[in-house]
Amino acid sequence: MRIVIYPGSFDPITNGHLDVIHRAARLFDRVIVAVAANDGKQPLFSMAERQRLVAETTADLVNVETDSFSGLLVDYAVQRRATAIVRGLRAISDFEFEFQLALINRKMNGKVETIFMMPKDTYTFLSSRIVKEISRLGGDVSPFVPPSVLAALNRKYGRSSPRSMPSPKGN
Ligand code: ADP
Repeated sequence: MRIVIYPGSFDPITNGHLDVIHRAARLFDRVIVAVAANDGKQPLFSMAERQRLVAETTADLVNVETDSFSGLLVDYAVQRRATAIVRGLRAISDFEFEFQLALINRKMNGKVETIFMMPKDTYTFLSSRIVKEISRLGGDVSPFVPPSVLAALNRKYGRSSPRSMPSPKGN
């Protein structure tokens, strides 16, 4: 049984995260999407909300489960009998931090391997931070997130329906 952990803040889950999850689900027997409780960020969505959105948007994938973790990722990986951690690489800007994290994790536990997956090119510019910013300012984020996340963002920002961004002519 090959188990992989996909850790992150998922605040909220985006189509970029889902792209990585689908790819990992094809390679591993089990993918555990682990929502981090203590990553030093001040999240927009609570832990329960983030987990619910991950669970809802991955419900069609039978070998994907949702969990949360706090403390050291490598300890959590051992506890869940995972042999690997998967991270998404969008651009060079991700590389330095991810490289450092992977090597530190390897120092702490050489048995847990980190693997990187690149999303579909259309998602390489996408981050939860950008999605929240656009949504907060009233833009349309429907191309970037699944419908349940869109609804959750609209509720968070006190809107009942999304406002579409005007699309430039000829685009
Ligand atoms: P973010 O960086 O958007 O706040 P997370 O902290 O939840 O996201 O990131 C969890 C993992 O998912 C990280 O490895 C991150 O690089 C990856 N990731 C985030 N957005 C994307 C995307 N659009 N495509 C591929 N991987 C992504």
